[in-house]
Amino acid sequence: FYQVYRRFSILRFSCRVVALIVIWISNMRILITGGAGFIGSHLVDRLMEIEKNEVIVVDNYFTGSKDNLKKWMGHPRFELIRHDITEPLIIEVDQIYHLACPASPIFYKYNPVKTIKTNVIGTLNMLGLAKRVGARILLTSTSEVYGDPLEHPQNESYWGNVNPIGVRSCYDEGKRVAETLMFDYHRQHGLEIRVARIFNTYGPRMNIDDGRVVSNFIAQALRGEPLTVQSPGTQTRSFCYVSDLVDGLIRLMEGSHTGPINLGNPGEFTVLELAEKVKELVNPDVEIKMVENTPDDPRQRKPDITKAKEVLQWEPKFQLRDGLPLMEEDFRLRLGVVKK
Ligand code: NAD
Ligand code: UDP
Ligand code: UDP
Repeated sequence: FYQVYRRFSILRFSCRVVALIVIWISNMRILITGGAGFIGSHLVDRLMEIEKNEVIVVDNYFTGSKDNLKKWMGHPRFELIRHDITEPLIIEVDQIYHLACPASPIFYKYNPVKTIKTNVIGTLNMLGLAKRVGARILLTSTSEVYGDPLEHPQNESYWGNVNPIGVRSCYDEGKRVAETLMFDYHRQHGLEIRVARIFNTYGPRMNIDDGRVVSNFIAQALRGEPLTVQSPGTQTRSFCYVSDLVDGLIRLMEGSHTGPINLGNPGEFTVLELAEKVKELVNPDVEIKMVENTPDDPRQRKPDITKAKEVLQWEPKFQLRDGLPLMEEDFRLRLGVVKK
């Protein structure tokens, strides 16, 4: 009996080893929705560096661009599909990074109903797809789910302070529903989910005129235009460099925690301080001009990243003074402004 038992044990162990080897050497098919955008295209770059990954991007080019992916066009492990995720998508994949959604306030407010459809119907479709093929799915949610936070810094257990009927609600409430859908599919259908709550991220390839504060200030400084600080200027944000963020997203996807997990840089700056830093670094001759703000602008924002440190062993490496010059270089090239 012992001999038979031993043989079975050896057989079982061998099968397990073979299965692990097969998983290890077989290609991983990864879908990135919104992969032609700012963060998505940096994620594509990073995932394409791994030989066994096949990357498929779906994007409707609302705020993204094929230009961001031009280095991968024609690559045998890369595919780009024009598709709007508010429509069903039938495809076979192993993992889904679900990023598709405009992130800049001027773009998400431009067509708020479409923003909600993208967050709700789009996320539902991606979850339906993940369920059918058994893929793990990661949602890029946002610090906006904390609204105008009454707790500072924000940790993941804070439920937020969001205006449900304001002009930002299409985005904040849209992402809140997207998170709810993720957790309901997880509980009801056993889906493997990952939820990242991303704080303000900046870096090369940001849309030059997309209206976000770091891209606005750098473009204004390079064009010699006044830096437009929206009043009162004492509101704070915490800025994470894009390569740090991408590292966090991949760790979250590969790890075993569903989240939600804050991903951001805890270094907190007032918008006025940011303007002064950009002025000092990029163009000391520009003036700083106070302009009117938009409704419901959160007064403060800073991530508590204790959980990310603990469960992902992740924390950002780039400080603002390291990241801004890299973004300046990219903007100079794209705007054709040479350094004096
Ligand atoms: P982005 O606007 O550069 O990229 C979004 C991409 O999604 C674009 O390529 C756009 O064309 C695509 N898209 C939009 N609607 C779509 C639709 N219906 N179907 C298919 N594609 C669609 O924004 P980003 O800064 O790269 O943000 C990516 C994700 O990260 C978003 O989900 C955003 O909410 C989240 N996020 C970003 C930040 C940040 O600071 N950048 C902060 C928090 C959360
Ligand atoms: N869906 C999709 N691709 C798939 C599977 C589903 O886009 O491969 C969409 C589907 O059209 C539906 C949504 O995902 O609108 C949710 O699918 P699910 O199977 O969870 O729900 P049901 O179709 O039963 O409403
Ligand atoms: N802001 C600013 N000038 C600009 C653009 C934005 O002062 O040209 C401010 C805005 O009022 C907000 C902060 O910068 O307080 C961050 O705005 P952004 O649109 O980049 O991102 P948000 O965190 O609001 O989504």
